[in-house]
Amino acid sequence: MIQILPDHIANQIAAGEVIQRPASAVKELLENAVDAGATVIELIVNDAGKSLVQVIDNGKGMDLADARLCFARHATSKINAIEDLFHIRTMGFRGEALASIAAVAQVELKTKRAEDQAGHLLEIEHSVITREEPVAMKTGTSVAMKNLFFNVPARRNFLKSNAAEMRHIVEEFTRIALAFPEIVFTLHANNQQLYHLEAGSLKQRIIQLLGSTYTSKLVAVQEDTDYLTIRGFVGKPETARKTRGEQYFFVNNRFIKSSYLHHAVMNAFQALLPAEHFPLYVLFIDLDPQQLDINVHPTKQEIKFEDEKIVYAFVQAAIRHALAQFSVTPTLDFELDASIQRLSSIQQPTTDATRAATRDSALFQHFTQKNKAHTIEPTTKRSAENWQAYTPIQNELPAVKEESTLFSLAGERSFVQLLNTYIVVPSAKGFALIHQQAAQERILYEQYQQSSHDKPVATQRTLFPITLQVSAADAILLDEMKGILQQVGFLLEEEKKQSYILQGVPAGFESGNEVSFIESLLEEYKNYNSDLQLPLREKLFRTLAKKRAVKAGVALNEKEMQQLVSDLFACGDPTTTPFGQPTLIEFKKEELDKLYQR
Ligand code: ADP
Ligand code: MG
Repeated sequence: MIQILPDHIANQIAAGEVIQRPASAVKELLENAVDAGATVIELIVNDAGKSLVQVIDNGKGMDLADARLCFARHATSKINAIEDLFHIRTMGFRGEALASIAAVAQVELKTKRAEDQAGHLLEIEHSVITREEPVAMKTGTSVAMKNLFFNVPARRNFLKSNAAEMRHIVEEFTRIALAFPEIVFTLHANNQQLYHLEAGSLKQRIIQLLGSTYTSKLVAVQEDTDYLTIRGFVGKPETARKTRGEQYFFVNNRFIKSSYLHHAVMNAFQALLPAEHFPLYVLFIDLDPQQLDINVHPTKQEIKFEDEKIVYAFVQAAIRHALAQFSVTPTLDFELDASIQRLSSIQQPTTDATRAATRDSALFQHFTQKNKAHTIEPTTKRSAENWQAYTPIQNELPAVKEESTLFSLAGERSFVQLLNTYIVVPSAKGFALIHQQAAQERILYEQYQQSSHDKPVATQRTLFPITLQVSAADAILLDEMKGILQQVGFLLEEEKKQSYILQGVPAGFESGNEVSFIESLLEEYKNYNSDLQLPLREKLFRTLAKKRAVKAGVALNEKEMQQLVSDLFACGDPTTTPFGQPTLIEFKKEELDKLYQR
C-alpha cells in the first residue's frame, strides 16, 4: 500500500542531507545571518552544539508572515525563478536549512525588522509552531536550535565526542569569518568567549583566526582578468606545516573543497616546500555566477567550473607571480617554469622506482610469492614462553646454540640487515625476516600501553622551550590529546590560546623535528579512520608508535639490531603491528627445500 509520508517525517528524512551534525546548523545559521545583511553576528554553542546552537544577528529581520513561513520546506526569499540560480549572490537559496533544523531539533526564533515596534517570538517543535507572541528586542534575528536530534536518537548517537564536534564548529565558523572580514563575529562556547573578531582587513582576520605566526609571513595574491579575479594570501614557504587544515578556497565568497585547485597551488609552490608540507592559503576566486554550477552538492561545498583548466592555470600563475614578486622565489625559477616542472616530475617517480626495484628483486619475490614461503601462524599457537626464551639466548650467544628453542641462532653472532629494512634472524627451523619498522611499531606500542599517568615514559627536557602554534580547530584536538601525550613523554603547556610550549619530549627523541612531529601526529590522528570507535588513548598509542618507529630504509648497526630483536620478543604479541600487519615472517627449512626441489 502506498502512503504519502506525513510532512514531519518527510522533513526529517530530507533534513539528513542538510543537518548532519551541530556544525551543519552553525554553517546554515551563520549564512542566513550574512544574507540578512548583518554587521555583527554572535554564535553561541553549548555542549559542542548538541544542546544549543544559537546565532544572533543585527540583520534585516522578518515580519510575522515570513517568521511563520521560514520553517516550511522550500521557503526562501532568495530566488523566484530557475534563472535566478545562475545569478546567485547570496549564501543560501534552497530554502531547506530552517525546515531541516526544525525537523530534527527544537527551535526558538526571535526576529524584528527596523520598521516594526516589536519583534516576534516563535517556538517550533516537530516542524510545528507551538508558541507565538510579541517580544521586545533590537532589530535582527536570533535562531536557537536546541537538543539536536532529540527526536532521532539513532542520529544523536552518531555524534562524535564534544571535542570532535567542537572542532567541526570552529572550522565552519572560521570559513565564514574568513569570507566576511568586514563583519564582527563572536563565538561563545559553554559561556566562554572563544573569539571576538573585529571588523578589519582580510589579513587581520587571517592572523586573528589562524595565529600570529603569520604576522609578516603572508604574501598577497591579486590578479584580475575579465573572466575572473583572484585575491587573498598565501603563507611564505617557511610557514608551511605538515598538518593540513589551513587551506581555504572561496568561490564567490563561498568556501569550497577542490583537490584540483589545491593541486594548482601546490604546483606553484613546488620547489619551495619541504616534502609533505602544506602552505597556508586563503584565496578568493570571483567570477560570473553563470560560469559555475554551485548546485551540484547539497551542502554546496563542491562546484563545477565551466572551464576548469583555465581556472587551474590561472590560480597557478597567480601564486607563482605573487611568490616571485615578493622575491620568495628567485625570478629565475619563475621564468624557468617548465624546467622546474620537469625536475620534480623526475624526482617523484624516482622514489617509486626505487621501491618498485626492491619489490621486483628476486629475493623479495621469492619470499612473498604465495605457497613458496611460509607465513607465520597466528599468535595463539606460539606461547609467550617460547618468545621469552629468546631473550637470554641473545645475550649469551653461542652457548645455547644446540638448544631447540623456537629461534636459536645457528651459530651466528651477528644479524644481517637486508635492503636496510629486514633483519635476518636464524631460527631453529629455518630463519625469519623481521621488518624493522613493523617490529618497532609493536615495541613502542606496548611500551606506551604500559605507561600510565603515574608512570609516564621517560621525558627529556627540551634545551630551549619550543613554541607550537596551531589553528583554533587543531587547538581543540591538541587539548584533547595533551594528557595522553604527556603520558608518553611530550610535555606540552598551553601558553596562550592556540599557542603551546613544548617543555619535554620522549627520551631519545631526535631534536629539531619536534614541531613537525606533533603536527604530523595531529594530521594522522585527524585522518585516523573515524569509524573505528577506539578510545583516544588507543588511537594515539597506535599513531605514535607508527610515527616514532625507525623507518624502513634506515641502516641499523649490530647493537641496534640486537636491541630491536630482543625488545620484539619481549612483547606480549611480537608477531603483528598494532595495525595487524606482520612484524616477522618465518621461512622454514621444509619450505626452502621445496623451493630447491629437494
Ligand atoms: P535559504 O537561506 O536557502 O533561503 P533557509 O531555510 O536558510 O533558506 O531560510 C529561509 C528564509 O528565511 C530565507 O530565505 C530568509 O528569507 C529567511 N531567514 C532565515 N534566516 C534569517 C535571518 N537570520 N534574518 C532574516 N531572514 C532570515
Ligand atoms: Mg539559508
